[in-house]
Amino acid sequence: MVDDPDIVARYAVDWTGRFRGRPACVVRPASVEEVVALMRLSAEAGFGLVPQGGNTGLVGATQAPAGTVILNLEALRGITDDDGAVVAAAGTTIAEVARHARERGHEFGLDMASRDSATVGGAFATNAGGLYACRFGRMADQVTGVEAVLADGTVVSTLEGPHRSVAGVDPARLLAGSEGGLAVVTALRLRLHPPIGPTVTCLSGFADFDALVDTLAQSPPVLAAEVFGHPEMEIVTSHAGLPAPLARSRWYLLVELEERHAADFRPPPNAVVGDGLWEYRDRITESFGTTGVVHKHDIVVPRRRLPDLVERLGEAVEPNRLFVFGHVLMDDFHVNIAPPDPAEVVPEAIDDVVFSAVEELGGVVAGEHGIGRLKRERYLARLDPVSRRLAEALKRAVDPDGRLNPGVGVWPAPSGEQAVDLL
Ligand SMILES: Cc1cc2nc3c(=O)[nH]c(=O)nc-3n(C[C@H](O)[C@H](O)[C@H](O)COP(=O)(O)OP(=O)(O)OC[C@H]3O[C@@H](n4cnc5c(N)ncnc54)[C@H](O)[C@@H]3O)c2cc1C
Repeated sequence: MVDDPDIVARYAVDWTGRFRGRPACVVRPASVEEVVALMRLSAEAGFGLVPQGGNTGLVGATQAPAGTVILNLEALRGITDDDGAVVAAAGTTIAEVARHARERGHEFGLDMASRDSATVGGAFATNAGGLYACRFGRMADQVTGVEAVLADGTVVSTLEGPHRSVAGVDPARLLAGSEGGLAVVTALRLRLHPPIGPTVTCLSGFADFDALVDTLAQSPPVLAAEVFGHPEMEIVTSHAGLPAPLARSRWYLLVELEERHAADFRPPPNAVVGDGLWEYRDRITESFGTTGVVHKHDIVVPRRRLPDLVERLGEAVEPNRLFVFGHVLMDDFHVNIAPPDPAEVVPEAIDDVVFSAVEELGGVVAGEHGIGRLKRERYLARLDPVSRRLAEALKRAVDPDGRLNPGVGVWPAPSGEQAVDLL
């Protein structure tokens, strides 16, 4: 257990610096037995537990309300091979699993810029998407078994593999995207994919967004397809000291595809092929670090509506600055609003401006990053009554006192103060 305020602060504040929890302490179990003991202790003493992996989440889902305890899973790590699949402890990072898979001639289907800190448990609990989702699916699609501890200390396990029954209720499906509100995940059985052959990366510039989407629609299968605009290109080149890779355009498309498909991909004339082009996409997020506390939103809109969203928001958020990029084939885009000056603060009301614009364009306010605290109110207000009832019944069945991650995601929370601080 850690209760030194300086050390606890590292776990209490989120990656963006926007949300700060008030946990009583942090516990870091190193075995399933220790997780079980903590769950039982929490049931006896009646305190809430906030499961936490690498704390790279962006929706304020691991910032613990006062009186609760952070249950950090990073010490629970390790990978074992299992007939072409792997079983990874919840605190193992995405990068560790990917490295392990490659060393054995396989590919892990999930990748994202937070790979060195984000854990498989956190990726599963958010049902993360990431860079290769258009090829391999989301984290839930990589998971074929789960081991988890319920609020009363019961261990549920389907790690034994594909010979288990496929009928009935599958915990690996139920717990995907549950944001720490139904159980603490302790291990996952992960499918691996055949190796990807040599790949080619192409960055192309477009004046017109429809032309970009048309190019993708006619493209051979791609591993990844990322879009961003000129403001994002400007900030990443200036922050990272990168040269302008091609002539200035309104929109950029970064595509990675296997070499065997490259000849069939038809980019526009303003295009460049080469190693190292991923840096222009990967380093966009860190570029905002120089601009003060950024409001980050991960939303879904039909891809051809993205220019409309950017146009509406560009004016609405002024004098704050807008940066948008994302996974175009998943219709999943990251909307970032930075203050005009690092010393200034983006007004809270801007979040509602973003959410309203997204909904007016036929989109959804929560994409691959989850709901967390950030989008809970808005999301619940629009959740259909049947889904709401199902969420309530599920939570009542496995965590009737509401001790797991109170106030996060779709799950009903116990009455009382669940707030965390906004910085
Ligand atoms: C630079 C950067 C790039 C990113 N890119 C992407 C991207 O492309 N795609 C994407 O989807 N996300 C992305 N993210 C967001 C983030 O990395 C993911 O949400 C990731 O899956 C969170 O993993 P984590 O281990 O850090 O979880 P945390 O942030 O610690 O937790 C996230 C949620 O999972 C729950 N949780 C964590 N571990 C467990 C467990 N063992 N059992 C039960 N619940 C648990 C928490 O309670 C919380 O609700 C990015 C973040 C950053 C900082």
